[in-house]
Amino acid sequence: VNIDEGEPGTFKDRHYLERDPHRFLEGMLVAAWAVGIERIWIYLRDEYHACREALEKEIALLRADPPGPLPEIQLRRGAGAYICGEESAMIESIEGKRGMPRLRPPYVAQVGLFGRPTLEHNMETLFWVRDILEKGAAWFAGHGRHGRKGLRSFSVSGRVKQPGVHLAPAGITVRELIDEYCGGMQDGHELYAYLPGGASGGILPASLADVPLDFDTLQPHGSFIGSAAVIVLSQHDRARDAALNLMRFFADESCGQCTPCRVGTAKAVMLMERRHWDTALLAELSQAMADASICGLGQAAPNPIACVVKYFPHELGS
Ligand code: SF4
Repeated sequence: VNIDEGEPGTFKDRHYLERDPHRFLEGMLVAAWAVGIERIWIYLRDEYHACREALEKEIALLRADPPGPLPEIQLRRGAGAYICGEESAMIESIEGKRGMPRLRPPYVAQVGLFGRPTLEHNMETLFWVRDILEKGAAWFAGHGRHGRKGLRSFSVSGRVKQPGVHLAPAGITVRELIDEYCGGMQDGHELYAYLPGGASGGILPASLADVPLDFDTLQPHGSFIGSAAVIVLSQHDRARDAALNLMRFFADESCGQCTPCRVGTAKAVMLMERRHWDTALLAELSQAMADASICGLGQAAPNPIACVVKYFPHELGS
């Protein structure tokens, strides 16, 4: 179970775990029972001390008075690497090796942890199991907006009045999310841009604030929702500054296994630090990174560059 929650701007797992660890544990046990799982590894972000304390306590209580036969449960501490949120890198890390993504095939569902077939879940999926069982699938699917189904937990940060985790209908637009769930923009700030999916999901302009936030709806705009970490920027921010910040993050977090990502992110930082962006060279570099990187980090790292060039060209060269 992936609770590494390393995506910048994402904090929904921590929010739910600190408030209701039982709902997660129950969902986890139901899922394990349904699929016939022998062992569960929970991979928890090391910075989440309060969650670790709560989970250690609750797992001990569970072992002392189990509701039925329990699978073996291991709680592992992550070591703070963004890449360990990638499923195969997480498996390497749990096996005691350096957290680096594996080449596929084989897929982890066939050859995963310690060579065994492995299902890797995110925490929120399991968190909702109990509600869906109790209230029925129709209840969950009954939510949604603009033709989408279900509920989504948005981690909202940035220039809004009420940042935090907001449970909202899937398919809501960022404008609706800000106005209806976040108390609007902070005083003196107008929506200028937003990141719909954390670091790698791209940066979109305010003119696209009415696009439903979902997987296939954002894709045509060169963006994706990822873990629904929405970061809101105002006229006091610049998209190119945000993009540079993200690229520095990627350069820092690249596991170094493949050259296009390891060298490409560092070169991109250098080019983006210049006052005038060499967009042709950045495009060539982005293409090489997207085509030849092993995993999603290197493949998606150029997304913010493409978004700035496409949507915020007025910022370049200024
Ligand atoms: Fe590592 Fe980057 Fe290559 Fe992914 S793309 S395997 S993070 S070097």
